[in-house]
Amino acid sequence: MSKPESGELWGHPKGLYYCFFTELWERFSFYGMKALLLFYVTKYHRFDDEAGYLLLGTYGGLAYAMPVVGGIVADRYLGMRKAVVLGGVLLCLGHFGMVYEGHAATIVDDRIVRDEFALSVFYLSLALIIVGVGFLKPNISTIVGRLYGPNDSRRDAGFTIFYMGINVGAWASSLVCGWLGETWGWGWGFGSAGLGMLIGLVVFVRGQAHLLGKAEPPDPARLRAPWRLGISRERWILIGALVAVLAAWQLLQVRLSLFEGGQISATEIVAVLMTIALGVWFVPFVRTQCTPAERDQMIALVAITATSVVFWGLYEQTYGSWNAFSDRVMNREGLGVQWTATQLTGLGALFIFALSPLFAWLWPRLAKRGRNPSTPAKFGGALVLAGLSTVPLAWAATHPGDDGLAGLWSIVLAYFILEVGEMLISPIGLAAVTTLSLPRVVSLMMGVWFLASAFGEIAAGRLGALSAMPEDTTTVDALAIYGELFWVLTWIGLGTGVVVLLWTPWLRRRMHGVH
Ligand code: GLN
Repeated sequence: MSKPESGELWGHPKGLYYCFFTELWERFSFYGMKALLLFYVTKYHRFDDEAGYLLLGTYGGLAYAMPVVGGIVADRYLGMRKAVVLGGVLLCLGHFGMVYEGHAATIVDDRIVRDEFALSVFYLSLALIIVGVGFLKPNISTIVGRLYGPNDSRRDAGFTIFYMGINVGAWASSLVCGWLGETWGWGWGFGSAGLGMLIGLVVFVRGQAHLLGKAEPPDPARLRAPWRLGISRERWILIGALVAVLAAWQLLQVRLSLFEGGQISATEIVAVLMTIALGVWFVPFVRTQCTPAERDQMIALVAITATSVVFWGLYEQTYGSWNAFSDRVMNREGLGVQWTATQLTGLGALFIFALSPLFAWLWPRLAKRGRNPSTPAKFGGALVLAGLSTVPLAWAATHPGDDGLAGLWSIVLAYFILEVGEMLISPIGLAAVTTLSLPRVVSLMMGVWFLASAFGEIAAGRLGALSAMPEDTTTVDALAIYGELFWVLTWIGLGTGVVVLLWTPWLRRRMHGVH
């Protein structure tokens, strides 16, 4: 690493812009791949709908569960900078691995014959991405926080800029990777995602001097010194990462029948075990290491994080049932362009992009008048909005146009409503983690925040599977099936939203003055 340079650009530490571009490209690759994933397995490898949705949930679940581990390892041993580089390398390998398609599934004697070797490579690539996300995602966010001093008032603005980067990446990838994958060939889409990640990694490596040593290992000498079997801790972490890749590779493919008629994926078991382990740590920790006020704040943080599971469960429908709905039964022509379904997934990021400045302006104004809703109230509102977001889709499914298809307007409106909800929960939640958590365990609590996304992904896969249908389903029947699912999602959002709003006074009391 070259000599650290100090300096600012446009009122923020230069390091912020390197984190911004790294995360922009990481999210470009992540969402570009995700937009294609369901279609790739259902159309190319001919998974049935249910298997497709469940894989989406399993993959997303593991990708968001890993940050708990990536956060702890970076906090205690590796430091954030090295963790991001390691994550970036694994991500590049994974995305480029996805380029290998093998041959498409064929039907021989009424049986589907799949390219099992290609599928093995595919699962291994997903596993590399999962562990890569685990090392990169929580730590790049923590670095942003570390670039500012404890009372630096620019911190929130810094996070807002960073969140914009996430969404620029997500939006651009839906246009580029989605389009390339759906029209030129899957490998092109996945390859372009990999290229994006490679750019992100190069940006980070070149810019690491601008992090001013704030993302270094807590004890570099200890990290390098020989440890068990004469191998240093740093090497052991590398070995551990590879073992995690192998484990994720297998976990992705395992579904267990635990009870009659019901299957549970290994990912679900992992997520539950992680939660139990965190619970075993949490209870004595808040009992013995926190003042009563700190304990209340930590409990409030866990409670609001738990409510976010429902939000993510509804939100992640966008890459599952919303994507399939717009692909199969929607007239996607608009503004003179025939959009692909994957390109429409970018609407979410586009609205975030448009809405961010509005909310950055709105919250301080409301606060000045004493009218800024509390964090739990915002969470309740986000759930209500997530519920309302599927109303236009349900309506379009039950009121198709003259061509017998759902209108494009419905998904535009649905994304708009959902994204107002995301503005009320996602950046607000990240901020809540940094203010309600005991500073000592903030990275761990960041991991817990993402673990809620993991459960959301798992729930989304299971909910999406409610709309599973055979390949030869007619448009009329498909519209009815989607309509039914979207109404169910609406009621889930509205119901839990109201419960959280009613719970708000209790939660606020436990926040002890934190807004
Ligand atoms: N869209 C945001 C991101 O990718 C939040 C995702 C999440 O926490 N589930 O960073």
